[in-house]
Amino acid sequence: MGDTIFGKIIRKEIPAKIVYEDDSCLAFHDVSPQAPVHVLVIPKKPIISLEQLEDEDAPLLGHLWLTIQKVARQLELAESGYRVVVNCGKDGGQSVDHLHFHILGGRALKWPPG
Ligand code: AMP
Repeated sequence: MGDTIFGKIIRKEIPAKIVYEDDSCLAFHDVSPQAPVHVLVIPKKPIISLEQLEDEDAPLLGHLWLTIQKVARQLELAESGYRVVVNCGKDGGQSVDHLHFHILGGRALKWPPG
């Protein structure tokens, strides 16, 4: 697969406001926030989208979900609540071809999304 802007963030070739990092994932503030708190959690492994996940990625996915919980707590969203969004493919609104989880919070979010 080709490189993406998130690959450059992982390699620290371009700046990002990183809030969490470990060996397998990274969390940073979205450059165009859609809520008072808008953070992206990504695997360092260059998985294109939810559709490209394979059975061997199951442990990584579990780790990503627990990281989302950790980051949400760190950002003091746990008590009031938050939303986790994964856009997949063209109709899903995915604009960066590197799997990412949006954490949105800091205000009451509407449902359904547009
Ligand atoms: P999606 O539309 O689900 O693919 O989400 C991609 C997200 O990446 C959007 O919310 C963008 O605002 C965000 N984004 C794009 N470039 C950057 C960047 N350099 N740093 C942080 N967030 C970015």
